[in-house]
Amino acid sequence: MTLLLLSAVLASLAAFYVVRPILARRTAVVVDAAPGALLDAEAKRRSTLAALKELEYDYLGGKLDQADYLAQRDRLSYEALAAMRAAETAQAQAGAGVVDGIVPREVGTAAHGCGFVNPPASRFCAGCGKRLR
Ligand SMILES: [Zn+2]
Repeated sequence: MTLLLLSAVLASLAAFYVVRPILARRTAVVVDAAPGALLDAEAKRRSTLAALKELEYDYLGGKLDQADYLAQRDRLSYEALAAMRAAETAQAQAGAGVVDGIVPREVGTAAHGCGFVNPPASRFCAGCGKRLR
C-alpha cells in the first residue's frame, strides 16, 4: 500500500515536471502578444501552409487521386499566397506602429538582428524571441 502511494506521488511529480514548461510558455506567449491583425494574419498563413503540406502528404500516401489533389492544391495555393501577402502587410504595418489602421505620427522602429521588424514597444523579438531591452 505504501509502495502504491509512493509510486502515485512520484508519477504526479513527474507529470507536473513535464507539463510545467508547457503551461509557463503558453502564459508568456499571451503576455507578449503582437497586434491582433498580425497574429490573425500569421495564424492564417501558418494554417494554410500546414494544410498544403498535409495535402501533399495525403497525395503521396495515396489517400487522394490526382484530380482531387490538383483541385485542392490550386485552391490551397491561392489561399496560402493570399495569407502570406496579408501576413507581410500586417507585419509591415505592425513594424510601422500601425494598429487597426491608425498610423502614428512618429515612428521609431528598426529591424532586429534576425531581420524581424518588431512593434516599437516590444520587449521581446517576435522573430527570434530574444529580449530587446
Ligand atoms: Zn530577433
